[in-house]
Amino acid sequence: MYNKSSSKAEEFINNEEILETLKYAKENKNNFELIDKILKKAEPVKVGKQTKCQGLTHREASVLLECEDKNILDRIYKLANKIKQAFYGDRIVIFAPLYLSNYCINGCVYCPYHRQNTTIPRKKLTQEEIKQEVIALQDMGHKRLALETGEDPVNNPIEYVLESIKTIYSIKHKNGAIRRVNVNIAATTVENYKKLKEAGIGTYILFQETYHKESYEKLHPTGPKANYAYHTEAMDRAMTAGIDDVGLGVLFGLERYKYEFAGLLMHAEHLESVFGVGPHTISVPRVKRADDIDPDKFSNGIDDETFKKIVALTRIAVPYTGIIISTRESKEIRAELINLGVSQVSGASRTSVGGYSQAERPHDTEQFDVSDQRTLDEVVNWLIKSNHIPSFCTACYREGRTGDRFMSLCKTGQIQNCCHPNALITLKEFLEDYATEDTKNAGNKLIQEKLDVIDNQTVKERLIKNLSEIEKGNRDFRF
Ligand code: SAM
Repeated sequence: MYNKSSSKAEEFINNEEILETLKYAKENKNNFELIDKILKKAEPVKVGKQTKCQGLTHREASVLLECEDKNILDRIYKLANKIKQAFYGDRIVIFAPLYLSNYCINGCVYCPYHRQNTTIPRKKLTQEEIKQEVIALQDMGHKRLALETGEDPVNNPIEYVLESIKTIYSIKHKNGAIRRVNVNIAATTVENYKKLKEAGIGTYILFQETYHKESYEKLHPTGPKANYAYHTEAMDRAMTAGIDDVGLGVLFGLERYKYEFAGLLMHAEHLESVFGVGPHTISVPRVKRADDIDPDKFSNGIDDETFKKIVALTRIAVPYTGIIISTRESKEIRAELINLGVSQVSGASRTSVGGYSQAERPHDTEQFDVSDQRTLDEVVNWLIKSNHIPSFCTACYREGRTGDRFMSLCKTGQIQNCCHPNALITLKEFLEDYATEDTKNAGNKLIQEKLDVIDNQTVKERLIKNLSEIEKGNRDFRF
């Protein structure tokens, strides 16, 4: 039985409910009266000084996904961008993954780190090697990381992850600092989530891979990850342990995307219903070529057009949730997606263990092929020139604005007075410390233009003062 507030995976991600949803969506794919009503419901509305958005249920969003009408698609894209602008403005947050270890005891058939793979060299960074990686990342200008490891209680126990987080936060090289460490590690216990919370992590990220239980079990034949319920209920344990910000994701290509999309939204509805706050972020990776992985062997791959529609509909359905696009995607598709609701991108990523401290991009321990191989300066330059504000901001998490406190900031439209100036401050730091001449010029011009849109004079004056302090060599201001 479907019950979004249940603590049991098979009740909050209920197979029958998803099948019913897909049937309902098919039956209504040309019901333009209903579709129009759904699109109108999703529109941002002004309530006093605030802008609000209702989002959509998994059923409503699935109807839009099923609809093939070109005019409707056009409306979906415009609405996604409008919602992104209303709650996130022009900002695009930038981060990089940091691979600590590729030892893994799972049997995930799409991932080259799976235990049976004997061709991939296994590597785990020492604390000294982590330091070198972090210095290399700081020297590019990164301030936010997402830690990645395989699952291996002997080689990568929770103590190793905790020690690594401590090392990362402790390194201050020149003007560099990692100010937010997000963590993408295997599902674990409430006890361990508490330890991660105490270590000061930002978001706990765990991709569901697929919501389809039967497929999940085939795709994860061995190892602890084979347990569908334990994996699917991980976010409940993380939130019970006090981690406010959790990041969901589906690995597109493994299962039929319509099923996954409904499952993903049901997961978000479940968290909202039980914990009063939905997912902080949603990631939408697609399966990529890797050491012993051929993506063409997965028959549910999705083309770029379908992918764009999924991203836009995710923005419409969960208006306050960050959407992340990684460097798995090419720069061309990333350029389209940032206008369809994406709010975070990774930049200059290396998916090998120890990849950042080497001059040439190594491929031996890589998790997957990286499509967008631009440097961080090039990514920042691209965003600036497409009128987006590259942001290295970590202020919310450091000011305790996590979970529902972050969401209420977003919901009350405080972005113009808080996130917008913070984005400009962190961009200014990047321009002063790490940018090439061209990026610096373009960035300073952008900052000037974006200063003008701030109505609140007190905020504006404080920001101008902070920007000039940064030029004098001072760092780490925030609203
Ligand atoms: N080991 C952890 C776990 O099992 O959740 C998380 C870290 S794993 C390094 C991060 C994510 O990479 C996985 O959750 C999966 O979705 C994705 N991934 C694995 N193989 C991939 C491939 N061939 N192409 C694209 N993404 C892949």
